[in-house]
Amino acid sequence: MKRPKGKGRIWKRGEPGFDAAVLGTSFNARDKGHRPQMLVEANNAADVQMALATARENDWKVSIVSGGHSWAQNHLREGGMLLSMARINQIEIDAEARTARVGPGCWGLDLDRALKKHKLFFPIAHAPDVALGGFLLQGGFGWGSRELGLATQSVIGMDLVLADGRQIHASESENADIFWAARGSGPGFFAVVLCYHLKLHPRHKHTALKMQIFKRKHLDALYRWADEIGPEVPRSVEFQMVITPKAGGIFGPGIEVVAPVLANSRKEAKEALRFLDESPIRHLASFTTPLIPISTSLMSIGANITHFPPDVRWCADNIWTEAPIDDLLPGLNNIADTMPPAPSHSLWLNWQPPKERPDMAFGLESKHYLAVYGEWKNAEDDHKYEGWATECMEQMQQHALGIQLADENLGNRPARFTQDSKLQRLDALRSKYDPDGLFHHWMGRHDKASENSSTPAPDTSLSHA
Ligand SMILES: Cc1cc2nc3c(=O)[nH]c(=O)nc-3n(C[C@H](O)[C@H](O)[C@H](O)COP(=O)(O)OP(=O)(O)OC[C@H]3O[C@@H](n4cnc5c(N)ncnc54)[C@H](O)[C@@H]3O)c2cc1C
Repeated sequence: MKRPKGKGRIWKRGEPGFDAAVLGTSFNARDKGHRPQMLVEANNAADVQMALATARENDWKVSIVSGGHSWAQNHLREGGMLLSMARINQIEIDAEARTARVGPGCWGLDLDRALKKHKLFFPIAHAPDVALGGFLLQGGFGWGSRELGLATQSVIGMDLVLADGRQIHASESENADIFWAARGSGPGFFAVVLCYHLKLHPRHKHTALKMQIFKRKHLDALYRWADEIGPEVPRSVEFQMVITPKAGGIFGPGIEVVAPVLANSRKEAKEALRFLDESPIRHLASFTTPLIPISTSLMSIGANITHFPPDVRWCADNIWTEAPIDDLLPGLNNIADTMPPAPSHSLWLNWQPPKERPDMAFGLESKHYLAVYGEWKNAEDDHKYEGWATECMEQMQQHALGIQLADENLGNRPARFTQDSKLQRLDALRSKYDPDGLFHHWMGRHDKASENSSTPAPDTSLSHA
């Protein structure tokens, strides 16, 4: 993504530069032809209030974008208003209090770099340009999240503009119901976040990475071992396996075992990764890297270079699963065999969640996270690849507990992303705070309000995986 340049302005549909300005808000280069009537690039709270008033006057629905990393391009809808928060990206750090106030347009990389100077840390996303705007609303699986919790658990408050234009603060003690909803409703949130108030963490003294590369033929052996060892992997390690048509170093189909570790000394990092050195299948690896000291910022930049290049077209989908590995292997082999060209890939994350989380709208996770990301360059190939991620996950749906909103594909495959009781509470809060349906629902959610009725119709299609 490119950082927004200059002061934000208003763009009207059809004027020169409008298409480029709208499409430039999206990381995914797909263009399904959806255009708003107006794009408002907000510079401050007053712009947001003015934009919402204009939308209300014109009976327009509003979609919101910050960093534009929604794989599904949730903000690109036909008609209405697109409100860009990308320019509201300030970072104010109170190092002594270990807190920060950060705009929704702020990139993870920028926050990480600013905090490094103070030896402080926040669990930002794994790609540098993912903004806090959408990341924190959907949960936030960041660096160190297995240990520190979802990034949204480190949000202590937020400044918001509601559908009626009121600016409010929400926290555990103030507008607590909105605070509850904001931490997990992701792209279905019903207000505009102006600023996040964050709790910061001490920075780890030693961050490192170790990788093992396996050829495609070892997939079954590798996933069986990963399933078995998973619960024993220390929480400081993010143990991931990436199926790719072009694995690092072997330049052919394979699986990259990637193990970043956030520790306080090299000795501690080595100890945490002992499970890789002692793995019974390590002799099958084409090679194993030494333990490489590397900062979280550099790991994020590396991830973009190898797996998340810009200006390409994407499809993505995911499942949470606890199914026995033998039930999952046919689906995993299908993913490997049908994957579009590199850098398309599939992520297996050894998540192993804690027993409890604070009460918030986020409410679904499990032992393993499996996501697929298909990538291609040309519009002519849309028909060839656009359904790939959906088809892979449909095939494994029977083994799924639900999905994570970070990589949602709700427009193509409605699925459960939180507990049913939490979804009902979210619906009730939406009706209370956005009774006229100013803000868009999750994609794929049929909503009478989008047909300009005043009451959003209850729809349970998202509550079934
Ligand atoms: C390359 C890449 C890497 C990723 N890595 C990770 C990762 O490591 N961990 C992880 O958890 N997720 C990850 N994601 C998923 C990402 O966190 C989500 O897509 C998130 O929503 C992106 O936030 P954004 O502000 O950049 O995106 P946007 O597309 O701008 O936002 C997504 C949605 O959030 C809502 N929204 C955004 N800003 C606001 C606001 N200010 N007020 C109200 N609603 C708002 C809107 O509904 C919007 O459509 C990744 C995505 C990509 C493309």
